[in-house]
Order: sequence, then structure tokens, then C-alpha cells
Amino acid sequence: MNFTEIKGLDEAYVLQTYGRNQVAIDHGQGAVLWDTEGKQYIDFTSGIGVCSLGYANEAWAKAIYDQAMKVGHISNLFYTEPYARLASRLAPAAGMAAAFFGNSGAEANEGMIKVARKYSYEKYGEGRATIITLKNSFHGRTITTLKATGQDHFHEFFFPFTEGFRYAEANSMDSLMAAAGDDVCGVMMELIQGEGGVNPLDQDYVRAVAKLCAERDWLLLADEVQTGVGRTGSMFAFQQFGVQPDVVTFAKGIAGGLPFGGFMVNEKCRGVLRAGDHGSTFGGNPMAAAAANVVLDTLTPDFLEDVKRKGQYLRDGIAALGSPYVSGIRGMGLMVGVGIQGMTHRELKDKLMAEGLLCLTAGADTLRLLPPLVISREEIDQGLAVMAKVMGA
Ligand SMILES: *Cc1c(COP(=O)(O)O)cnc(C)c1O
Repeated sequence: MNFTEIKGLDEAYVLQTYGRNQVAIDHGQGAVLWDTEGKQYIDFTSGIGVCSLGYANEAWAKAIYDQAMKVGHISNLFYTEPYARLASRLAPAAGMAAAFFGNSGAEANEGMIKVARKYSYEKYGEGRATIITLKNSFHGRTITTLKATGQDHFHEFFFPFTEGFRYAEANSMDSLMAAAGDDVCGVMMELIQGEGGVNPLDQDYVRAVAKLCAERDWLLLADEVQTGVGRTGSMFAFQQFGVQPDVVTFAKGIAGGLPFGGFMVNEKCRGVLRAGDHGSTFGGNPMAAAAANVVLDTLTPDFLEDVKRKGQYLRDGIAALGSPYVSGIRGMGLMVGVGIQGMTHRELKDKLMAEGLLCLTAGADTLRLLPPLVISREEIDQGLAVMAKVMGA
């Protein structure tokens, strides 16, 4: 099918919930994608931080195929090797005790919220269920994670929302103290607010929050759905902030493109969720877990160092454009936000796409770049050349 045919079916038969780019992607290789009309693009999106190994990665595809030919799915009423092996590698790499596997970021955050509430309920009884989240955050699209999201426009239409969330200004301990109370059981945050505009939290603030959580026995809940699994140049972003959360979620990049997510808890929270408290039909699916094991094979310490260097290379390259449209450059590793002035971030994204570079937007004015973690310097250079052409001095 060509673009027009695909778009016609979409408009006729699919709910129109996305502001889609006017392109149908057909296939890819490394950090390069081709659309159905044969046009080639450098990819600075990797889905939305999902395809960490790029496209058509042989080891990834083979692991999925091999597992599909052994057993593609079996319920969690049985043990299987791929998820067990994955947990045994991921938990130590994060300094956590144990993992739960599900299918998406929102679902992972729901599980994390359940851990915080049950931990507090069992230790302190009722009335201590409130979770403080940060303004401008994004935590997902379910009724509960919409409410956890600290942006008013996500709190429309779908009433009644789940109760028990209060919002604090990011990077302000005063605001956090104002939201504090006897009813609080946890503080939930993204170390870098992704959808909100690629805004890294201040190190000092994150450490102060962790200290307060420890003092009051609130759980520190890290939403690393976007920042986790190598995106920022460490296995998890919290490792570069000098804190250790009680619970951390992950999803987007974990399985390199298959739907997969979950959370990990520390020793203190290991016993909170017991048989019957939580579950997922698809969670820990053998094919997805096999794919995730290939992602972990790839994320060696050397590879992660190179993610940091490539991120710096990309940020330096954007700074060197001397573009009048750039108001600031933020981010860590291969999670990069470029503040845009003089045109809207969406206009710029469309112009870059027309010239063969795929980018994302975030917040009100940010061009968001989440290239595959395996992107080469040559591919980064090709992307920068498009940026120079569209937005250079
Ligand atoms: C994408 C994202 C989510 C939601 O993940 P889904 O897989 O779409 O449910 C939650 N939190 C953060 C930080 C995200 O970036």
C-alpha cells in the first residue's frame, strides 16, 4: 500500500487520537528509516525512545524469532527462562532487589503506585495514600496515571479520576514542603521530565527529596519509563543523580521495540506485593523478555560511556550551528531537548522531516531528540547536516 491508501484506511477505521506525521514508515536499518514512497530519513526518534538498538538489528530479531519457535507465550502460572534471566541482570544493574514485568509505561507506574500505597497501608494503616508528583510531569494515560501527571489539561473529561495526588513545583523544596502532610506515602518524579520538555531536575533538589523521603518513610518513586535502560548514558538516570529510589519504573527502551515495561523495588519493598496482589497476562512475555536480554547484552559499560559521548557530540553539533532558532540545549546522554524560538517546534519538526530528519517535540517549545542508542557518529552528522540546512545561521 502507498501512503494515501494507508492514510485512507486509518481515517476510515482507526480512532483519530494522534496528530500523526504525514508519512507512513515502511522499514529501517540502523538509525535510518524509509517511508512507503521510498524517501529516506535519519531517525532522531527511535519510536519515542523505544528502538534503542535501531532498526533491523540482527541479534534482536534472531532472539525474538528463536524464542517464538520455542514458546512465544505462556502464562505467568509457569516459569520461563527469559524473564528470570532478565530480572537477574536488570535488578543488580539498578541496585534493586526484585522486578515485576508488565507491558507499558503507564501500567508500570500503576504498579509502582500500588507498591507505595500498600507499603504505607501495611505499616501505618489507612489515610496515608497520597503521592506527591511534580508539575509539568507526565506519567501515562490511564485514569490513575493521568491524575498523577502534573498538568491540568490531562485532568479533563474522564471524571472521576483516582484520588490521592498532589502536585509540587519541580526543583522547589518549599513547594514540596507545602504539599507535604500526614497523608503522604511517596514522591514520584521523572529525573528528566521528558514529555514536559526535556527538563532535567537539579541534582541538589533530587538529593534533598531523597533525604526527606528517607526521614518520613515516604517511598521515592522514580518514573524512568523514558530515561531508563541506557537512554541517558547510565543504566538508569538516577545513577547520575546520586540517589537510590525505593521503586523505579521502566518501559520504552527496555525491549528495543516490543511492548514491555515494569518496575523494580528495593529490599525494603520486596515483600509488599504478594501472590494475588498484582499481575499481568502478557507481563514477562518470553519473546519480549528475550528481546530485552539482547538490549542488556548491548548496554555494556563501554557502550553506555559512548552514549554519553555521542549525546555530547550531538549537543555540541547543535550548538555549533549557531542557529537563531535555538534558545537552549538540554538533556543527558541521547535524550536531548532543544529550546526553539522564532517558529513553533511543530513547524520546525515538519521542515526537518521534509529534508529527511525525523524529530519529536515536547513541552511548549522543545524539539526532542531520542535517537537509537546505537546511532553512529556518521548518522548523527547526517542529521546535523539537515539541521544546518533548515535552521542554520
Ligand atoms: C511514555 C511515558 C509514560 C507512558 O508510557 P506508555 O508506555 O505510553 O504507557 C509514562 N511515563 C513517562 C516518563 C513516559 O515518558
